Amino acid sequence: MQTDAPVIVVINAGSSSIKFALYAAAAPAERLAEGQISGIGTGSITAETPQGATQQADVFGALKGDADHEAAISWLLAGLEKGGFVIGAAGHRVVHGGAAFSAACRIDLSVEREIERLIPLARLHNPHNLSAIRAVRAIWPDLPQVACFDTAFHTTQPDLATTLALPQKLRESGIRRYGFHGLSYQSVADRLETALSGGLPKRVVIAHLGNGASLCALKDGKSVATTMGFTPIDGLIMGTRPGLTDPGVLLHLLEEKGMDVQQMSHMLQKESGLLGLSGISADMRVLEASDEAAAKFAIDAFCYRIVREAGSLAAALGGLDAFIFAGGIGENSEKVRAKVMEGLAWLGAEIDAAANGERAGREPVLISTKDARLPVYMVRTDEEGVIAAETARLLTIHQ
Ligand code: AMP
Repeated sequence: MQTDAPVIVVINAGSSSIKFALYAAAAPAERLAEGQISGIGTGSITAETPQGATQQADVFGALKGDADHEAAISWLLAGLEKGGFVIGAAGHRVVHGGAAFSAACRIDLSVEREIERLIPLARLHNPHNLSAIRAVRAIWPDLPQVACFDTAFHTTQPDLATTLALPQKLRESGIRRYGFHGLSYQSVADRLETALSGGLPKRVVIAHLGNGASLCALKDGKSVATTMGFTPIDGLIMGTRPGLTDPGVLLHLLEEKGMDVQQMSHMLQKESGLLGLSGISADMRVLEASDEAAAKFAIDAFCYRIVREAGSLAAALGGLDAFIFAGGIGENSEKVRAKVMEGLAWLGAEIDAAANGERAGREPVLISTKDARLPVYMVRTDEEGVIAAETARLLTIHQ
């Protein structure tokens, strides 16, 4: 597990958790270790370290139960160093890069300021991404750091796809569709490109179906449209987010139901989606195991929305040459894949039930029949791997 060669630590900091993974800087395709710190801000923090052991039992030492993001990062880096890792760089997932960041970049103070300036567009994410970056800088000011943005992959989209039909003044203030899950789309597209003899087909829709879920249309490997918009609330039905919802509903709630901003935000982020529909759970595994009619309805609605939105993206592409499933649900739920493929029959999807029962991995698995008009694949996405590769690439450029 220990290595003298420098490693890249990939950090994905959320509101209450910090996920991390280690990659050899010289060979960033291989993940050496991973772990997660959970419960930040709850007063009862827990941590899984690369050894898979609990915090008390290993070189990391105890992490204080009331640790904040800074304290957790400092604990992590110190533990990795004590564990024998030579940290060569840190790569961060940053959710919102606005219009400014169309690619990953080395972090300096001006990049930090720009990420800070974008906080009003991503209050739930960018503050935590930024605090992780600043915590690393405070401990090791000279450590190279790289930011990889979830929005960057979509900066190739035409104005027609990104512009919202709102008054000019509002549009000028940055209100438009941005799209998210870009690191996942990059990972999936790269894996398909490498594995298929003809490379990535010309017109592709990738379905990233996890707790957050979205679809992306790629033409010649570039994003041309996606279902998430100004925020990650738009588009598909998700674990606890409703996706596409008539904005008139929100007006109604403000005007007639006396809902305030905080209640509305909570409803849209935490109470809707699969959880809101089923009243049982946001977790697809729980819904699949349930006999309740509401659980079945939630799964049906989840799949129905995917099929409808896939049709919209196929129209934007002028046809469809391949469809790909990824994300926790896309990679693991045989049932969801089968149901969505049934809905895509009109585009030429035809399921190979045996292949659909296989496990998704790094290599794409063809789950449609060999001569189906629409090839459908499943592949395991690796967002952290993309961050490690981008970090290694930028370090080489700057050396
Ligand atoms: P993610 O956000 O990508 O980690 O995905 C989380 C979602 O994947 C949750 O809804 C899980 O229930 C779902 N998931 C994970 N494993 C399975 C599985 N074996 N079958 C169905 N859904 C799964």
